Amino acid sequence: MSERRTIAIAGGGIGGLIAALALARGGMRVLVYERAARFAPFGAGIQLSPNASRVLYAFGLGKALATAASEPEGLIVRRGRDAQELARAPLKGFMGQRYGAPYLILHRADLHTILRVATEKEIDIDIEMGTAVADFALHKNGVTVLTERDHQLEEHRVAALIGADGLRSTVRARMFGNDQPRPAERTAWRALVPADQLPPEFAANNVGLWLGHDAHLVHYPLRGGSVINVVAVVADAWQATWTGDGWNSPGDKDELAGRFSAWAPQVRDLIDSLPSVTRWALADRKPLRRWGEGAVTLLGDAAHPMLPFLAQGGGMAIEDAMTLGRCLVRGEDVAVALRKYERLRRYRTARVQREARRMDRIYHYSNPMAALRDMVMGARSGQKMIERYNWLYRHKS
Ligand SMILES: Cc1cc2nc3c(=O)[nH]c(=O)nc-3n(C[C@H](O)[C@H](O)[C@H](O)COP(=O)(O)OP(=O)(O)OC[C@H]3O[C@@H](n4cnc5c(N)ncnc54)[C@H](O)[C@@H]3O)c2cc1C
Repeated sequence: MSERRTIAIAGGGIGGLIAALALARGGMRVLVYERAARFAPFGAGIQLSPNASRVLYAFGLGKALATAASEPEGLIVRRGRDAQELARAPLKGFMGQRYGAPYLILHRADLHTILRVATEKEIDIDIEMGTAVADFALHKNGVTVLTERDHQLEEHRVAALIGADGLRSTVRARMFGNDQPRPAERTAWRALVPADQLPPEFAANNVGLWLGHDAHLVHYPLRGGSVINVVAVVADAWQATWTGDGWNSPGDKDELAGRFSAWAPQVRDLIDSLPSVTRWALADRKPLRRWGEGAVTLLGDAAHPMLPFLAQGGGMAIEDAMTLGRCLVRGEDVAVALRKYERLRRYRTARVQREARRMDRIYHYSNPMAALRDMVMGARSGQKMIERYNWLYRHKS
């Protein structure tokens, strides 16, 4: 197939793979360059709200999701210090009925496998592992991508380059400068625990959210309830200088336990039971005014990295991919199609980035604001709590 139909994607994460599917299904040839030598599945969960699950169903991944994902019964919000239930919102059944697609939870590695299997079935998608996009040069009718593999540089002439290369995107840096992500001064501690080692309130089929001053904790079951995903987020100035870029930096469980020593006994017991913990320094960036130039654009975290407090970073990458696929296959001039894609995505993703920052403040209030927050939550029905996000969940890419 000619270079006029070939699109290069930097990055084979959730965003890169789903974009590859969207473009191939639209009749393009796709080359995905992934820096990692092999996909190393990391142990963590991901929540996919209806705006994202809808896209995966549209790509025919429903059958695979039915095996790998599950619908939690509800979201239960509790006060960290005394385990008092503040709110309970319905998810299972309700989300599908209200928004036309379910709220799903699954293991990230399983989602990645589903996407990889789907891309392997497309003859027009090639994934080159161990190959990093190092640079690019724009031409009137396309772009030359410079890749690096085993210290060997290679040039590839393609119609467009999509930077889906994550928080520290090289494609973004080449276009807009190499500024560092904005540290959130929060550390996410992460663990997976066998469900049979936990008390029932943690092993139940719910998303649990515990709120406290300068910390919160989220848990939900994965893989048929056999394992529980736990993420504890704490305020931390140390991470402002920490540039770790992996999911798997080992953490010290005693340090984590110290941060939750004034919390309810259930939470302390939960932390005690964690086999091991890893940590991740949270960071985002301010919304960009422009995402691309000529035949180059950005997608997913490369375009709009956000704090995880709305559980939407992956969802936004999935939405981006659907919109990109719709814009790029219509036979329009590539640069025109990419600018259209950016216009369709910029406002919404910026809103989610800002809302995630706002949730950061709300989750971590101290008194008296925390007491006010708890009162407001308690007074609102769970359904109303969900419906505040109609604008988010209702979206059809
Ligand atoms: C604690 C936490 C919890 C979260 N929970 C959720 C959730 O519940 N729901 C949700 O929707 N989102 C969640 N997110 C956000 C979500 O994980 C990200 O938004 C999502 O993974 C972004 O996908 P991506 O493909 O854009 O980037 P990435 O997943 O970062 O993938 C980028 C890929 O590009 C590769 N790469 C990097 N540079 C290059 C290069 N130069 N050339 C080639 N390849 C390159 C990398 O190796 C990587 O494979 C959470 C995030 C965190 C931190």
